Amino acid sequence: MDDSQARELLKSLAEDLAESASYLRELGVEGLDGLDAHALEAPARTREEPKKAQPSVPTALRRNATAERPTATTLPPPPPQRPLPPPPPPPTSQAAGPQPAGASLPPPLPTQADMPKKPVRKPASDPPEPRETLFGDITPQDELSLGRPGETFEDIRADIGDCVRCPLHEGRHTIVHTEGKPTARLMFVGEAPGADEDASGRPFVGRAGQLLNKIIEAIGLKREDVLIGNVNRCRPPGNRTPTTEEAHTCKPFLLREINIARPDVIVVLGNTAMKNLLDTKEGITRLRGQFQDYRGIKVMPTFHPAYLLRDPSKKREVWDDMKKVRDYLNSTKA
Ligand code: URA
Repeated sequence: MDDSQARELLKSLAEDLAESASYLRELGVEGLDGLDAHALEAPARTREEPKKAQPSVPTALRRNATAERPTATTLPPPPPQRPLPPPPPPPTSQAAGPQPAGASLPPPLPTQADMPKKPVRKPASDPPEPRETLFGDITPQDELSLGRPGETFEDIRADIGDCVRCPLHEGRHTIVHTEGKPTARLMFVGEAPGADEDASGRPFVGRAGQLLNKIIEAIGLKREDVLIGNVNRCRPPGNRTPTTEEAHTCKPFLLREINIARPDVIVVLGNTAMKNLLDTKEGITRLRGQFQDYRGIKVMPTFHPAYLLRDPSKKREVWDDMKKVRDYLNSTKA
């Protein structure tokens, strides 16, 4: 076997290992963080590495990627630092590209064609004042108190800036911010960007994202009707699971967005995102399909679309979960 054959074999073994690890992680198996594609020192470009940045990403969205970094890959060079850009325009369904074969969900019910706007925005609770203890310590602030009353998504992006708060900044090309309508009644939260998202600066645009678009459409909505974000905004190397510390570092920004948007329902995608958002040790297989509570907001845990790509038989469960979400939204329609 020559060098290039050995390299190919190693690459394929690394990919199989990463795929199996992420499948097991989705089922709640812990301690697999060493089993990512990079663990076997796979060649620099893994199967998830895009060949080039996606040309369909609107310029305004690229500008929103405030933290594009110099890179040795074929990604475009970073734009110069500039003032905070305007909020991203809602994505179009065309921008999502063609749907993958075999990704179909049951068709939407005809009565679900329209998502009503929230009639009255629920007031976000103002952050509590920090209090001094007897010993002069400032009590730890409530997570949401990291936000400011009246702040906007743009304020949060400005605070994130060219973030270097956790080690994930070292390998990222782009910070992937939450996108969609801040007034949306429905929000989806994933774990962390993958290669396509890292290249484009937009959440859920790869194969899992295509399937998420279908899931959204299956309940009669469009991608631009909802909010889509991740607990972590930078791609972990080799798509490993973000560490607890990395998740804790990034999560407050998502919580601030949730506090601004106050969606009626959050669908949390996959085991890692669910554990991080809900601060639970329960696994996704136990909690999926049952509404949870996050500060008065209904949270529906369901399987991650990437998991459905590996095991399409699980689409049935996700469809059941999404019907509950659709029914709840309809029952609370103003
Ligand atoms: N998986 C995630 O959890 N988030 C993305 O944005 C893409 C894939």
